[in-house]
Amino acid sequence: MDALFRQAGLVRNPRRLQPRGPRPSRLARVAPEELAPPLPVPRLASNGVEWLPIPGWDLSWLWSGFSTRAGGLSRAYCAEDAPGELNLGFTAADDRATVLANRRLLAEAVSGVAATPILALKQFHSNLVVDAARSDAARLTPRRADGQITDEPGLLLAVQTADCIPVLVADRRQRVVAAFHAGWRGTVKRIVETGVGRMRLIYGSRPADLIAAIGPGASACCYSVGEEVFSEFESQFSYGRELFHEVFSSDPVRTRYPMLFLTQRAPGHSPIGPSLHVDLVEANRRQLLDCGLRARSIQVVGGCTQCQGELFFSHRASHGHTGRMMAVIGIREAGKRKSGSVRA
Ligand SMILES: [Zn+2]
Repeated sequence: MDALFRQAGLVRNPRRLQPRGPRPSRLARVAPEELAPPLPVPRLASNGVEWLPIPGWDLSWLWSGFSTRAGGLSRAYCAEDAPGELNLGFTAADDRATVLANRRLLAEAVSGVAATPILALKQFHSNLVVDAARSDAARLTPRRADGQITDEPGLLLAVQTADCIPVLVADRRQRVVAAFHAGWRGTVKRIVETGVGRMRLIYGSRPADLIAAIGPGASACCYSVGEEVFSEFESQFSYGRELFHEVFSSDPVRTRYPMLFLTQRAPGHSPIGPSLHVDLVEANRRQLLDCGLRARSIQVVGGCTQCQGELFFSHRASHGHTGRMMAVIGIREAGKRKSGSVRA
């Protein structure tokens, strides 16, 4: 039919090809399994911590990695007979001393020294990025921000997550490191673009010298959202629509007997399909590309916190009763650099 119209020099209802308006139509329709990332394989440290190093980031001057829930001393979120876990957040259910001990275990796993200070933040889904210094380690309360940058060696910058996306950035030439916390709100507020902009402004970082790693979070397979989230992204990003999928439940009972599951809930919140899923990993990858990073300089470490509960804490999957993981990045102190290292 379209060919006949073309032959006659007519265009058949062009609006059909470019859907507009708040209701997302003609999004990619998929089953959740098609969007699920493979389960990452953690590295087992000698102290029992299982963490995710970043492929290709074996630079002699750089410490970096993502924690998982495996290893550690916490008993707050596991079965009685299970091994301890690596909760790194001062949550209500866990003991502060245990969390501090877990942080030392992570510091030891990533930097080789348990006493390496880990600088955490009081995160609030903003796009506020601060310059961190070693003196911050002595603070009684963490700074309020969702990103931090430093060129000071000997400390680990951290962001805490349990579904939100952690993003780490390193400047290979200037030796500057940054960590960002990007949930959907922070992503809409362009936390990563803001943070990389600050690296350029304060440290003179050039995009070609930057490498970035996107850590595990709630992936497109699981991250269902309401239409207000779709509207926010579509109004903020030219590619906003491309970040969403319509995901159908593949539950055979629900597919066969949909009337059993009918609800009055808004689209995106209904247990029967389609539900609207956002891909925050891709959203943050696009921001890094818009900052001028090369595609090959961006590592997606993978993993879905929401459906890979054996490896990750998930706020959404656990209805809020869960621990926190950390993404950490730091600059090795000069005296402790590996022998024979070169400036990479
Ligand atoms: Zn998932």
